[in-house]
Amino acid sequence: MSLRPGFERRIRKIVGGEHVQDSPEDMICYGYDATSETGIPDLVVHPGSRDEVVSIVKEAAAGKIPLVPRGAGTGLSGGALANRGGIVLHFDRMNSILGLDVENQKAVVQPGVINGDFKDAVAHHGLFYPPDPGSTRVCTLGGNIAENAGGAYGSRYGVTGDYVLGLEAVLATGEVLRTGSTARRDVAGYDLTRLLVGSEGTLAVITEATLRLIQAPRARSAAFFSFSDFSDALAAVRAIGAEGLEAAALEIMDRTTLECLDRYLPGRLPVSAAVLLVELHGSSDDCVAGMLDQAVAAATSNGGETVKTAQNESCEDFWEWRRAVSPSLGQVAASKIGEDICVPVGNIGLMHEMITAISKRYDLRIAVFGHVGDGNLHPNILTDRRDPTAMMRTEEAISELFRAAVELGGTISGEHGIGITKSAYMSMMRDPVSLGMMAAIKKVFDPEGILNPGKILQ
Ligand SMILES: Cc1cc2nc3c(=O)[nH]c(=O)nc-3n(C[C@H](O)[C@H](O)[C@H](O)COP(=O)(O)OP(=O)(O)OC[C@H]3O[C@@H](n4cnc5c(N)ncnc54)[C@H](O)[C@@H]3O)c2cc1C
Repeated sequence: MSLRPGFERRIRKIVGGEHVQDSPEDMICYGYDATSETGIPDLVVHPGSRDEVVSIVKEAAAGKIPLVPRGAGTGLSGGALANRGGIVLHFDRMNSILGLDVENQKAVVQPGVINGDFKDAVAHHGLFYPPDPGSTRVCTLGGNIAENAGGAYGSRYGVTGDYVLGLEAVLATGEVLRTGSTARRDVAGYDLTRLLVGSEGTLAVITEATLRLIQAPRARSAAFFSFSDFSDALAAVRAIGAEGLEAAALEIMDRTTLECLDRYLPGRLPVSAAVLLVELHGSSDDCVAGMLDQAVAAATSNGGETVKTAQNESCEDFWEWRRAVSPSLGQVAASKIGEDICVPVGNIGLMHEMITAISKRYDLRIAVFGHVGDGNLHPNILTDRRDPTAMMRTEEAISELFRAAVELGGTISGEHGIGITKSAYMSMMRDPVSLGMMAAIKKVFDPEGILNPGKILQ
């Protein structure tokens, strides 16, 4: 779309010319995210304050120009792409931790703060912010809130939404909405905080968040276990739970994933049917060492072999290996399409069997890894976007994958959101009444449809 004359001049006046980009090269740089989709904006604006966001939104509303909020662009459903043109609002300048209240265990942050930087900052005060996407070192808290991002620690600690006490957000009219409170409990009226969490920039632009923190665990231990049968790894997960261990993280990688990882980080992990990464948190070194012994017993009694164990800081190396999974898949295939289904934990085995059958039926390699403690699996289809027949098989495989997840009582997205890549499948997931309510809510928040149009609902 082309912007009306004078529009860019007024935007430059609001934020300062140096904070506006409009060159074709820059637009290309902002036209991607972590999917392989593209959406080229007309303008990229870097606001420095809430008031600047208000003025930009008012200008966009007057001109009916799409506004696409953007954090770090690590989204895996195309949410930060300007697929209908318009303005990308990039929050790299609004990246301050505005306050940290150690006694009350909460912090006030701007949306552009990097998740990993925030974790490090609160850790200095003995506090812990659990939401931990694999992209922690780059993704922003604004993007996490907008996607209700999960991550490895979800099975014990929950996801981003469980840590959002309140939000400040700019509505499509330019009005400022404040939701929630700074108290731990607040049931005064409809829960607008929950509504905005996971709304993918389609209802309001988040300009500030009050986040709940918890006491940092005093000690951690971790182990990698290898299995010659995928179902044995699932039995070990159940056995670890039955021991009452409440693992902080339970991550699984299947054979195809391990084959790719082995090419990227040779010799680190055995290429077996499944590898499980377990992390345990406790109040002392002795405590987590004892928990680890219990986990080892649970895994080995279900056919697992202990590959490696670690305690405290050395657990971090294990996460470096786990985080290498995504790049390792990118290295073996021309294109990888990462999906994000979640099924009830008891149905993971069936789901994995169905993925294997889909992989064979469509002659596609599918690597499966994910947060097995929550039932959240990431089947990554290794394919080639340049090959139309491969893409046709890929599309059909994705449809079947989603249908299988829904049939097993699960969902088409456990944490990556809907964006543009999954919006066509919303009717598979939600009935007409739910979809109608969602469309009505969108209309109330954004009557002119300027906020991240075409995302979630087509
Ligand atoms: C290697 C890798 C590993 C990953 N692992 C995980 C994982 O374990 N768990 C998980 O949940 N996700 C994971 N992700 C996906 C992604 O990192 C998350 O969705 C993350 O929350 C996106 O943050 P971002 O800052 O990159 O947001 P972006 O991609 O820039 O934006 C995401 C969405 O948020 C909206 N948004 C951004 N800022 C605002 C704002 N201020 N106001 C309103 N809307 C806004 C955008 O419009 C868009 O819809 C992973 C991605 C990669 C590449």
